[in-house]
Amino acid sequence: METAEFLKQRYSRQALFRGIGVEGQEKIRAARAAVVGLGALGGANANILARAGVGFLRLIDRDRVELSNLQRQCLFTEEDVRHSSPKALAGERYLRSVNSEISIEGVHAEFTDENARELLEGVDIVIDGADNPEARRAVNRACVALRVPWVHGGCLDCRGNIMPIRPGVTPCLACVFGDDLRRDMFPNCNIVGVLGSVVHATAGLEAATALRMIIDPAYPKEPFIINIDVWNGTFRRVKLPPAPSPDCPACSGNG
Ligand SMILES: [Zn+2]
Repeated sequence: METAEFLKQRYSRQALFRGIGVEGQEKIRAARAAVVGLGALGGANANILARAGVGFLRLIDRDRVELSNLQRQCLFTEEDVRHSSPKALAGERYLRSVNSEISIEGVHAEFTDENARELLEGVDIVIDGADNPEARRAVNRACVALRVPWVHGGCLDCRGNIMPIRPGVTPCLACVFGDDLRRDMFPNCNIVGVLGSVVHATAGLEAATALRMIIDPAYPKEPFIINIDVWNGTFRRVKLPPAPSPDCPACSGNG
């Protein structure tokens, strides 16, 4: 194909990037991803992944759009606030208008241990946009049990973190933080707030990591977690143990 024609194509700039290429773009098109939580972080991830051409996206969220979401949640409008639209359906509608070449399925539901298998049916990778530890723990348990790779992401105030997980190969969330994650153990954005910029910085790292995991089944070779702070301009990459912990309740199947 001539260069001028190639450059007019939707994914040309991404396929020109040496880490992806035309071959990588094909893998992205063939990928099936679930985004759990479609608030600020999940919405920003879904926005990047839909535009990047991930062939199938399942968007899972239990909430409805509120005015206080618009400061940082990029899939919704004031119209969605007026209609109190379910985020999963408003997000599906918006992203369909951005990319009609992919399949998008909004699911208005809470992600729990009970419906995890059903919600992850046919999915190759999961992106964490959960706003509470219970949902995140359910994602970890389900992904470890089903051997589905996933990317943990979280952010609060001006700080964010991401961690790619390949069940059975790299440490899972419970290997690192324990399995007893409860809502009352953590501050949340209703108490300490969250900047729109940290959401997008964290989602940028999380979505890039998800794309790389789609393209390269061996990534990451060296497990890690990244912590960023957009207010103070710091970025820290922490190396994790090379394998799951033998004492982990999720990885040992006792969770
Ligand atoms: Zn584990």
